[in-house]
Amino acid sequence: MDEPHAVVVGGGIGGLSAALALHRRDWRVTVLERAPELREVGAGLSLMANALRALDALGLSSALRSNAHAEAPGGVRDRRGRWLSRMDAAEMVRQLGTSALGVHRATLHRILREALPASSLHTGAEVEHVDSDSDHATVRYRGPDGPRTLHADLVVGADGLRSRLRAQLWPKIPAPVYAGSTAWRAAIAFPEPIPTAITWGPAAEFGMVPIGDGWLYWYAARNAPPGGHAPDELAAVREHFGTWHDPIPALLAATPPKVVLRNDIHHLATALPSYVRGRVALLGDAAHAMTPNLGQGAGQAIEDAVVLGAACAGGAQGLPAALAAYDEQRRPRTQAIARASLRAGRYGQQLRNPLALAARTAALRLVPASVTLRSMTWCVDWRPPQG
Ligand SMILES: Cc1cc2nc3c(=O)[nH]c(=O)nc-3n(C[C@H](O)[C@H](O)[C@H](O)COP(=O)(O)OP(=O)(O)OC[C@H]3O[C@@H](n4cnc5c(N)ncnc54)[C@H](O)[C@@H]3O)c2cc1C
Repeated sequence: MDEPHAVVVGGGIGGLSAALALHRRDWRVTVLERAPELREVGAGLSLMANALRALDALGLSSALRSNAHAEAPGGVRDRRGRWLSRMDAAEMVRQLGTSALGVHRATLHRILREALPASSLHTGAEVEHVDSDSDHATVRYRGPDGPRTLHADLVVGADGLRSRLRAQLWPKIPAPVYAGSTAWRAAIAFPEPIPTAITWGPAAEFGMVPIGDGWLYWYAARNAPPGGHAPDELAAVREHFGTWHDPIPALLAATPPKVVLRNDIHHLATALPSYVRGRVALLGDAAHAMTPNLGQGAGQAIEDAVVLGAACAGGAQGLPAALAAYDEQRRPRTQAIARASLRAGRYGQQLRNPLALAARTAALRLVPASVTLRSMTWCVDWRPPQG
């Protein structure tokens, strides 16, 4: 029997994870990435137990752990640095078997890339159209040498927030919407040991995550109208967060202005009725772009990939049933996490009313660390399918 062939549209964390999951199940994979080179833009990532178990299932555990930082989870602070809630790190490891890991995005992307045959990765290849029926799929793309067509048993749409495949195959689903916040991010050299922590102020949040090898990732978010840009984004961050508690001023002082990224936060507000159409399966941000408040977007993309690989383990035969199983396993979970992430942003970073802020502070101080941990486990205590 011929080797089954999957075309993966998009070479981000989701697309590479899907390609690897299928490659490990004996699929021939072709990854089409429109960027001229395969690399991950962005600073750092926090990966929790669910994402780490998914990466374990892809055989990447040791490569990842030797290139990342085991987070000493701190908790949530106010602008003056007073702890509002603490995480119980030892209990987290006891319950989940691991702490979270902080990793540079480029490192995770490289580890995924290196696990795939180089011949499967194609850059400068922008997918323009996909046709699919119940028997096979066709992908039209513009490559470095002009228009091309590929035939496939399966197409994986991992083309991100502004997914062309989603727009083409689910034309009634509105485009992603602005969530009301803008975020700045940077990865910097900062060898001092600090715990992973979030700081909340009115309508603003600052987070810091060590990512290994003396590097640290910080992010800052504020409520703002969409489309804003400052001539000097680092100065804009300093203006708002520069007087917050230590080590925030020191982190900003150690940041070269050119490494600061700014993105408005968008999410897919209208949930898709299915992640599958014919022989096309969406995953990652293409399927469920969520706000970053729970730090789960990439983690969910990697979970999607592992479940898709397991569902398609039988090859091209029985693919409609395999894809239906993928949809059934992934859609309820990812859409629930997307809703929870939006809520976490509304009651966390975006909260601005002084009375609501005071009530939140009082409530956070009362909640024991064990309850904080329990509130996360429904999301992070996920296990990959067996077999
Ligand atoms: C501020 C911020 C902080 C975050 N923090 C975390 C965190 O701590 N933990 C976490 O798990 N997640 C986090 N996320 C979310 C995470 O970054 C995303 O969910 C994840 O990167 C999505 O990966 P993806 O592969 O689905 O999409 P993308 O990374 O967007 O990749 C899509 C790829 O498809 C390519 N592409 C698009 N269209 C085409 C086409 N037509 N043809 C060919 N190629 C195409 C693009 O060039 C791109 O390379 C954060 C997000 C933000 C904005």
